[in-house]
Amino acid sequence: MSVKTPITVAYGDGIGPEIMRATLSILEAANAPIEPEVIEVGEKIYLEGFTSGIPDSAWQSLKRTKVLLKGPITTPQGSGYKSLNVTLRKTLGLFANVRPCTSYAPFVATKHPDMDLVIIRENEEGTYAGIEHRQTDEVYQCLKLVTRPGCERIIHYAFEYARKFNRKKVTCLSKDNIMKMTDGIFHQVFNEIAAEYPDIKNEHMIIDIGTALVADQPERFDVIVTSNLYGDILSDVAAQIAGSVGLAGSANVGNHVAMFEAIHGSAPDIAGKNIANPSGLLNGAIQMLIHINQPESATLIENAWLKTLEDGIHTADIYSKEYSKIKATTDQFAAAVIERLGQKPAHFKPVSYQQDVRAKIECYGAKKKTLAKKELVGVDVFIDNPAMMPNDIGEKLQKITGKLKPIIITSRGLKIWPDCMIDAPYANHCSCRFQTTTDMKALGQISHQDIIDLLQQFDALGLDVIKTENLYTFDGKPGFSLAQGQ
Ligand code: NAD
Repeated sequence: MSVKTPITVAYGDGIGPEIMRATLSILEAANAPIEPEVIEVGEKIYLEGFTSGIPDSAWQSLKRTKVLLKGPITTPQGSGYKSLNVTLRKTLGLFANVRPCTSYAPFVATKHPDMDLVIIRENEEGTYAGIEHRQTDEVYQCLKLVTRPGCERIIHYAFEYARKFNRKKVTCLSKDNIMKMTDGIFHQVFNEIAAEYPDIKNEHMIIDIGTALVADQPERFDVIVTSNLYGDILSDVAAQIAGSVGLAGSANVGNHVAMFEAIHGSAPDIAGKNIANPSGLLNGAIQMLIHINQPESATLIENAWLKTLEDGIHTADIYSKEYSKIKATTDQFAAAVIERLGQKPAHFKPVSYQQDVRAKIECYGAKKKTLAKKELVGVDVFIDNPAMMPNDIGEKLQKITGKLKPIIITSRGLKIWPDCMIDAPYANHCSCRFQTTTDMKALGQISHQDIIDLLQQFDALGLDVIKTENLYTFDGKPGFSLAQGQ
């Protein structure tokens, strides 16, 4: 008998316990060699005073097993409670969110019968780093942080996934026509890594048209790789049009730990009624079995599940007069899958996962290259300006002495001094750019002391500095964006 792999199991809230029981009963009947270790996370733990929804003892189990099968969680309303998913992703370094979106037409209604794509979303960076500030009475900011190793890891993962799962194309979605640095590095790294996989086609699209095409012609996509916020939105669009919000599972994968779940929430409206569809969690569990290198169990269960769908045994959420024979309860559906273990689907193509082929994909950023030469060449000084017109601020700034000269004042990225082109500029939140010279080609190096001297003069002039952003060049190239109109 094969050695059992310990896995951590969290039943979750709402419909969580019923769909987890159904899922585990199928895994058990399929003789999947796993040894579940149950932890408690979620609503009850939040209400006991753990603001992240996870107690210390649960971390110990995760550290041991490195695999979590998780039911959906209810995050209590009100401030102070942190999303358990975000905590798990960040703490365990789960950098890749993998969400297959497949349609199961005609048995599950969809306008896109040939849809079969996988979205691989960066899970730790971008605006989801959660670094936000209120800077003035009116202005709020969220920092979007993108790292080169973060891009390398997720894009590498997408190509490795495509290769292992026999997929033909990887599409990168970004908005680098606007965010030339943060999205620019994502696109640039995509081009670099794509060149290492000549056997896999690659393409890049701007996220807006890319999302429109996913909604309209999803069959033209295979693997999609994108950053955190875009991936979050896109994966719900894709799951919805596949007609399968109750069917899809997802994986959150890191190099050491991975977490598997359904994509839906805890559905409190139907909790305890034994009518929830356990398929989403079951598909998450199938991804888990592949990850822990138990492809035989994954194959056995997925084929039985496909056969159950084909046989018209459907829970209420996917029930249709035309294609359903039985409106099954959660338990009846699980029993029907168990009954079909060993059978293959006739309409759908049977799956056949191979030993070692698709198990755990590890991806790290590239080895550190030589560092670019970084030089400090200026500073953007942001001020809270409740009353002054841009020309009055410009006049004040020109009184400042020292190496650094005022070059431009911008507000929300638009030039408002000198030569403001608009009638009523918004000037309550201003960025005052200082450099040694106006000639971008001849940016002169400065010291931190020059900035400190400058800030003292801002203070003396009665200007309310809310933050500064240093301007650097890297190997002589500006590491900052120019304002519109600069
Ligand atoms: P939801 O996904 O729980 O429910 C949306 C709708 O889909 C409901 O009508 C529900 O009955 C139905 N539904 C969902 N899963 C189903 C299933 N398996 N079978 C049949 N019908 C199903 O979304 P929501 O109502 O916005 O969120 C409820 C709670 O879930 C919230 O507390 C939210 O924070 C949480 N949530 C948790 C996760 C997670 O743990 N990963 C994800 C999303 C939402």
